[in-house]
Formats: sequence, C-alpha cells, structure tokens
Amino acid sequence: MTTLTRADWEARAKDLKIEGRAFVNGEYSNAASGETFDCLSPVDGRFLAKVASCDLADAERAVKVARNAFDSGAWSRLAPAKRKQTMIRFADLLLENAEELALLETLDMGKPISDSLHIDVASAANSLRWSAEAIDKIYDEVAATPHAELGLVTREPVGVVAAIVPWNFPLLMSCWKLGPALATGNSVILKPSEKSPLTAIRIAQLAVEAGIPKGVFNVLPGYGHTVGKALALHMDVDTLVFTGSTKIAKQLMVYAGESNMKRVWLEAGGKSPNIVFADAPDLKAAAEAAAGAIAFNQGEVCTAGSRLLVERSIKDKFLPLVIEALKGWKPGNPLDPETNVGALVDTQQMNTVLSYIEAGHNDGAKLVAGGKRTLEETGGTYVEPTIFDGVTNAMKIAREEIFGPVLSVIEFEDAEEAVRIANDTPYGLAAAVWTSNLSKAHLTAKALRAGSVWVNQYDGGDMTAPFGGFKQSGNGRDKSLHAFDKYTELKATWIKL
Ligand code: NAD
Repeated sequence: MTTLTRADWEARAKDLKIEGRAFVNGEYSNAASGETFDCLSPVDGRFLAKVASCDLADAERAVKVARNAFDSGAWSRLAPAKRKQTMIRFADLLLENAEELALLETLDMGKPISDSLHIDVASAANSLRWSAEAIDKIYDEVAATPHAELGLVTREPVGVVAAIVPWNFPLLMSCWKLGPALATGNSVILKPSEKSPLTAIRIAQLAVEAGIPKGVFNVLPGYGHTVGKALALHMDVDTLVFTGSTKIAKQLMVYAGESNMKRVWLEAGGKSPNIVFADAPDLKAAAEAAAGAIAFNQGEVCTAGSRLLVERSIKDKFLPLVIEALKGWKPGNPLDPETNVGALVDTQQMNTVLSYIEAGHNDGAKLVAGGKRTLEETGGTYVEPTIFDGVTNAMKIAREEIFGPVLSVIEFEDAEEAVRIANDTPYGLAAAVWTSNLSKAHLTAKALRAGSVWVNQYDGGDMTAPFGGFKQSGNGRDKSLHAFDKYTELKATWIKL
C-alpha cells in the first residue's frame, strides 16, 4: 500500500508535466500534420494534455527509422547478455518512476491508483525483467545430421515490429509486447490506444535513458483508423502484434493479407465462463472470486468472469454470497488509495455498458445488484457493479463482450451442461472451475475450449504461464517463453562439411 493520500495524489496531478508528443528516433516530436487531440480524464472530465494525432506520414517516418536502427545492428546484433542488462535497467527505471507512471495511468483511464501502482506498473516492470532475464538462457538447436553435414536451427529477430494495444491495461499490455520484442533484438513501433496514450509516451524516454539505442523503440499515438491502419498496411513492417477487440483483430488479418503478409499475432476479446459446481471446496471463496472477476478494473478485463455458471442445486444459496461480496467493490475516486473500482475509460464506454444493462432488462434477465450510473456529480464516468440473475446463454448480455462490470448468472444441471454452455461462445480466452472432485476438475478443464483455465481460483498465474486465446479470442501467446515465437523467425542452415 502506498502511503500517499488522495490529497497527495491530487497535488501531484496538479504539478504533473504531461508529454503528449510522438517519440521517434530517440526524441519527442509533433505529428507531421501538426494535428492533436484532447486527452481528457474519466476521473472527472479534466483536461490532461494535447496528444499528437499521428497518421500515415508519421508511420512512414517511424518505420524508416526503426528499419535503419534494426539494420545498423546496434541493438539487433548486440550480445543477448548486453540486451539483458539494458532491459533490466529499463525495468528498474519503470519502478524508479512508478508513482508518476501510476498517476498517469489512473488519470488517463480511470483505474484505482493502488491498482495502477501495485499491479500495472509493478507487473509491467516485472514482465520486462522476465523477458530480459530469459534471453541469454535460451539456446538454439543443432539438427541430427549425417556425419559430414551440420544443420543449425536458429532463431532470428523478425525486424520491425508494430505493436497496437488497448486502453484497459495500457502499460502492462505494452510491456507484454515490448519485453520479448526488444529482448530478441527487434525494433518496435508502439501504437497505444487513443483513449490511454500517456504511459506509452512516457516510457519511450525511459527506454532511451536505459540505453536502448535511438530508433529501436518508437511510440506513435493516434487513432486506429489513421496511424494504426497505416502500420498494419505498411509493406516494411514484418510483424504486427495486437491486443484489442475481436472486430479489429479480424480487420488486421485483412490488412496483412492486403499488404506484405506480415505476421499477425492477436490477443482479442473474451466472454469467460466461471463454473461453480455444488461441491466447490469453499463457496464463500468462490463467491468472493466471482465478484472480483467482474469488478476488478471496472470489469474492463479481457478475462473478466462475465458468465457465472452455477449448479442449480446451490444457486439460491450461492447467489446471495456473490451479491454480498460485490458490496465490497464500490466505485469511488480513483485517486483515493482505498478505492477499488474506478471510472470507466470514457463516456462512450460508459454508454456502451449502460446499453448492455438495458439489454439485460429487455431480454428478461433479473437485476439483483447495481444497474446504474453513479457519482455523476463528479463529472466522471462511473457505473455500479451489476449482477443479472436468470440469464440464458442466448441473451445478448451472455453472448457479447460488455467490457464493464456486468455479471450474467446462468444455471446448469450437471457437468455436461456446464461445459456445453461454457463453450457455446465465439470466444475462448479463459475459464474457471470450482469443485472438490479432482477428476471433475481435470475433465472439465480439458473439455473447456480456452487458453487459460483456473481451478478453485480466478485469474491465477504469473509470467511463466502463456496467455492467449482459442477460437476468436486470438492466436499466439503473450508471457512465458512461448511469447518469443512471435518475435523471431526460425532459420535452418544446412552446411556440407
Ligand atoms: P480496440 O480493438 O477498439 O482497439 C485496440 C487498438 O486497436 C487501439 O490502439 C486502437 O486504436 C487500434 N485500432 C482500432 N482500429 C484500428 C484499425 N482499423 N487499424 C489498426 N488499429 C486499429 O480495443 P479496445 O477497445 O482498445 O480494447 C478492448 C478490447 O481489448 C476488448 O475486446 C478486450 O477483450 C481486448 N483485450 C484483450 C486482451 C487479451 O490479452 N486477449 C487484453 C486486454 C484487452
């Protein structure tokens, strides 16, 4: 817990010098067009900064710079142990500037300051460090060749990587990409979401301070349909890595096909089932986890446990426990260290969430908690954590990703039905199972079509666990050594001796 009070954070916010320009070739610059957009805070609507609105011209410049940096070998051919040292310094600098970064994140996207500090910044630094530490411990392969031949199977950096990221964990999602991309020697152009560009812009300077050569890490703020599209269609971007919605993920595959067949790796949406069987070892713990799985980060989490599947025989006993647990998640000012539910990222997202609540009513689901906008007088965008009971998996609120604190409770009769409902979704990002029966836990986990499955917990794991989706939740994996696959090409060199 930080010792800073809300008043301290407010005072710091007043003094904060916010950088809104792009970062190319080791320095900040305006967009070539001179265009900017206003960055407003969802905390209370306050103006934060004018941010460069980059477009095609900026993408052209940044790709040239990134390519030159890559070809120079200053980073791409550096010994892995040297890249490791520099990146560990980069991770350290994130921590040395943790309070400033946390404040930027909270002001920019509305999440509670305690989460920004202890989860987002801490995990972002950890993920950079983890990738850095791994890079001088990974060996290539020698093939099983005939006596007078030598077959080398090696990994090489792909070259220029464009990383397009969303607004819900702006710094963390950036670092999940930056860690393995930079550790493997690539040059990177990061395009943060137009809704939350500030921490990405700030860490570019820290990267240079750490010793990452100019041009290796560039940041282009701006809109998806302008600079994002320009990067995705660019003929000299080798790999596109993305976290965001399934809709845009599909579009990026089209752009890659229309341009240079760049590699496209996608972390997309989710509608994750959280299955509670009657024999769950601890119903109170399951209820608390179910509440946290929908309220944490205002429900703006790709793995949010947005479909709570409860065995019919315990539904009447279990639901009150969830309602009770959700009372502990209360929207408040995100700059207050005690707050655990902040503001939704902007008015547009708040209206989307409210429209799903309306759809829940219209489809006949029964509201049992929350359901309204709150703290309107602050000028911020807050919605009460909400539960609908009596939901069927055919209802809109059960089928579509809401990306807000709205939980759908769905009953099931037995394990077979639970798995059928759980898998009846276009998504496959995550799922959880609560049971005391070891066989049931394993068999259900096997049957679930999801990239992450948790048993008797929600959202467990660390950097050692690969993260990504089945089905329309994406392809490829972030975190773990598997993430390195996205940033390297595999080469076979066959030598006659
Ligand atoms: P989004 O798809 O709207 O935007 C993501 C990024 O893509 C932004 O930077 C945006 O500017 C850019 N973009 C938009 N249109 C583009 C285009 N035509 N060309 C190129 N770039 C374009 O998503 P969002 O609203 O920012 O984030 C929420 C989504 O992210 C949710 O669906 C959530 O599930 C997903 N998400 C997934 C994961 C995961 O790891 N699977 C993690 C976090 C968030």
